[in-house]
Parts: sequence; C-alpha cells; structure tokens
Amino acid sequence: MKKRKNDNSPNEERIAELVRQLLVELGEDPAREGLVKTPLRVAKSLAFLTRGYRQDIVKVVNGAKFSSDTNHMVILKDIELYSMCEHHMLPFYGKAAIGYISQGKVLGVSKLARIVDMFARRLQIQERLTDQIAHAVMDETGAEGVGVVIKAKHLCMMMRGVEKQNSEMTTSAVLGSFRTDVKVRQEFMSLL
Ligand code: ZN
Repeated sequence: MKKRKNDNSPNEERIAELVRQLLVELGEDPAREGLVKTPLRVAKSLAFLTRGYRQDIVKVVNGAKFSSDTNHMVILKDIELYSMCEHHMLPFYGKAAIGYISQGKVLGVSKLARIVDMFARRLQIQERLTDQIAHAVMDETGAEGVGVVIKAKHLCMMMRGVEKQNSEMTTSAVLGSFRTDVKVRQEFMSLL
C-alpha cells in the first residue's frame, strides 16, 4: 500500500532530475547501468534524511508524558545520532546525552531519542542541534533544568578540507538549573 504523503513532502521526481543533472556535471553518465536508479534513490534518501522538517513535536512525543514525583536527575546517554551539516550536506554522526530534572512530568525514554532524530534529520550545525534538543525537552517536560551534550565526527572534516580523521566536536547546551547551579551542572557532567 502506498503511504499517503504530507503536502509539504519533497517532490522526489524533481529531486531525481536534479541529481541526474548533477551526475552529468560531475562527468558521469547517468544512463550507465549502475547509475540508472541512483537519482531516485538519492531523492528518497534525502527525503528521509530531512524528514525532521516535516515532523512536529506534539506528534513525536505523542502523549508519552507521565506524572512523577521524582525531583532527581534523569539521564539518557549514548543516543545514536546521524545528521547532515548544512555547509557541505555531508553527514556528521555521534552520540547525544540528555539530562533533566523533572518537576512532576517525565518523558518516555524512547521519546527523548525521537526528539534527537526529529532535529538531527535536517540540515544542521551541531551547535544548533544541541540547542534545539535542549529547548524541546525543556518545553515538553517543564523541567527545572535540562542539559544536552553531543559528541560528533564530521565527514566534511574527515574526507575533505583539513582531513582530520579523529577530531570529534563536543557541544553542550544547558538550561534552567543546569545553567544557574554549578553543582547540578557538575553532577550532569560527571555522570556522562
Ligand atoms: Zn560541513
């Protein structure tokens, strides 16, 4: 059965045509056997890799908020993350950690991972991605504080440009008590 698409989903036929032209510009022959289906594959792949633009937080969280009396820090770490840098449209990938101190509301664990994906599946810079995840968790939980740390490797640095294979970028965003209270922030960092 064919899935019904969002109105704003990208036009895959049109993207495929652009990829076909790109292949020609790169000196390739889009008619050769190995490339015949490539433009449409690329179009579908790009649609998937940017689907975060077409998701909204209410549907992503889907009501998975639960009451809880705990006022302790909740941390989910090693959340796999794949995104694409907006400067080169090359992947960056790594792991995210999210911590928050709830004020009566907690999110289902899988929803934290889905929030990461929703923002990662767009053209991004790591700094903004980190920030957007932190704000989304804050907004959805009404937490006392939120901290997000992302460690990622950028293919635009590894396979082109400075060609540094092992450099990893770390970004963090802290909100609420994670920002104002040094002890809270230290507890978060020490648990990562
Ligand atoms: Zn880049």
